[in-house]
Amino acid sequence: MIPFNKPFIIGNEINYITQAVASGKISGDGMFTKKCHDFFEDTFGFKKCLLTTSCTDALEMAAILCNIQPGDEVIAPSYTFVSTVNAFVLRGAKIVFVDTGSNHPNLDVASIEALITDKTKAIVAVHYAGVACDMEALQSIVEKHHLFLIEDAAQAIDSYYKSKPLGSFGHFAAFSFHETKNIISGEGGMLVINDLRFAERAEIIREKGTDRSKFFRGEIDKYGWVDIGSSFLPSDIIAAFLWAQLEKMDTIQQKRKSIWSKYQNDLSILEKENKLELPVIPADAYNNAHMFYLICKSLGERNALIQHLKEENIMATFHYVSLHKSKFYINEKLHLPNTERYSDCLIRLPFYYELTEADQNKIITSILNFYQE
Ligand SMILES: *Cc1c(COP(=O)(O)O)cnc(C)c1O
Repeated sequence: MIPFNKPFIIGNEINYITQAVASGKISGDGMFTKKCHDFFEDTFGFKKCLLTTSCTDALEMAAILCNIQPGDEVIAPSYTFVSTVNAFVLRGAKIVFVDTGSNHPNLDVASIEALITDKTKAIVAVHYAGVACDMEALQSIVEKHHLFLIEDAAQAIDSYYKSKPLGSFGHFAAFSFHETKNIISGEGGMLVINDLRFAERAEIIREKGTDRSKFFRGEIDKYGWVDIGSSFLPSDIIAAFLWAQLEKMDTIQQKRKSIWSKYQNDLSILEKENKLELPVIPADAYNNAHMFYLICKSLGERNALIQHLKEENIMATFHYVSLHKSKFYINEKLHLPNTERYSDCLIRLPFYYELTEADQNKIITSILNFYQE
């Protein structure tokens, strides 16, 4: 069986966990958390980074920091994971869904301005498959209308827009280290704060609404309850695992990019024959090899391909069920044609660090056979 995803150990994960335990401090903000924060700030130039227990938690922190109130409107794509919008729904926001583009599952920036009202407070941009949204256009919209911009960069580690790292454009950005992402810690995430006016409040919200971070730095002599908040920080055991992966980020990324390129090269014949579409990487964006997907001609064909691969013990899978069609939200009148096409026609191929060339060849041959039948 070739799985769709497989979590992996790259090197020192277990050693560092042992070190964390031996250090006598395994709650949050220990030695390994600090190493991870420094890595992100030094490598990508993010202004302030805070590890969280998940990307979902980082998005919830962002929603609190934007001061979202009941009735506020937040614009987000429908073709995304629930956490992108749930974080804002928890604060009472009304979600206004924007369609994706016709040639890429990212949100269609040209459709956004028509959705802005005087209640609009924020736009959440998801970099699908780690490929950048049109950040210049998004930034000019948020500046013109005085909105917050949040990047759901869950899939976007080590990816760029015009050479600038994703995660450095929004007021806030949220990353994920869930075992399905490029760099993993089991569960895990990070909030990036690019507007430093929010840095102090972010620390407080992450520490149960207390100014404990300041206390630990010796800036105040006792700490107390100063704001709303929750427990958003991960144990240093998680950070130890993550640090081992970050140390090897370039090795991991190199391998993933070679897997991605092989899919692209070996399947391009099907696109030339007009049998399906391969992923598009816009000129200003970059490919961080998070995912490889195909766009089939119809729902029936996509499902038949999934079934065909399954019969050969290959686990490929569809992706998001459009959120505007979900049981929780369902709005019968809302029609987002591009989003619905991706929900129906997109298929993701097995993609993980330890995928062998032999297994990848098997997957590719199986797909080519499906289209020759
Ligand atoms: C994975 C993912 C999330 C959630 O990440 P967690 O770390 O599991 O909370 C949110 N948004 C997108 C786009 C994702 O791919």
